[in-house]
Amino acid sequence: MKDNNCIFCKIANGEIPSATLYDDEKVRVILDISPASKGHALILPKEHYANLYEISDEMAMHVIKTAKKMAIKMKDELGLEGLNVLQNNGEAAGQTVFHYHMHLVPRYKEDKVNMKWENGELGEELKEELVRNLSFESGI
Ligand code: 5GP
Ligand code: ZN
Repeated sequence: MKDNNCIFCKIANGEIPSATLYDDEKVRVILDISPASKGHALILPKEHYANLYEISDEMAMHVIKTAKKMAIKMKDELGLEGLNVLQNNGEAAGQTVFHYHMHLVPRYKEDKVNMKWENGELGEELKEELVRNLSFESGI
């Protein structure tokens, strides 16, 4: 399903031109228009899913397989020293385009990318509560 008001639906399906690195029946990989680093790319499903909560299992698998292939290509061609894979869900997490996408951010020693956070502490009580509430058993 496509969303007529969604810019990433239009880009993914070729209705708006983009700097495309890879394209198949399910996804398109494009260069980010405001890159965090040289080679910053986005993997866009051709169907509209707002976020990780909505994406189909089949599409999620295809996205991660594409990420792996693209990552190896980037490693071979860019002389990068690291790579961050990032996927934002919801405004609070920094999502600005509400069509699922995965960022591939090549990293270089002197780059200007900052993905650091202040480390907290996992207390015993909270740990138990989180394990109680978040663990699940059935197969993926
Ligand atoms: P988010 O913050 O939602 O995880 O990431 C959205 C990303 O899409 C940003 O890095 C932004 O630069 C990129 N972006 C937004 N609009 C366009 C566009 O029209 N074309 C391309 N290539 N990238 C876009
Ligand atoms: Zn869309």
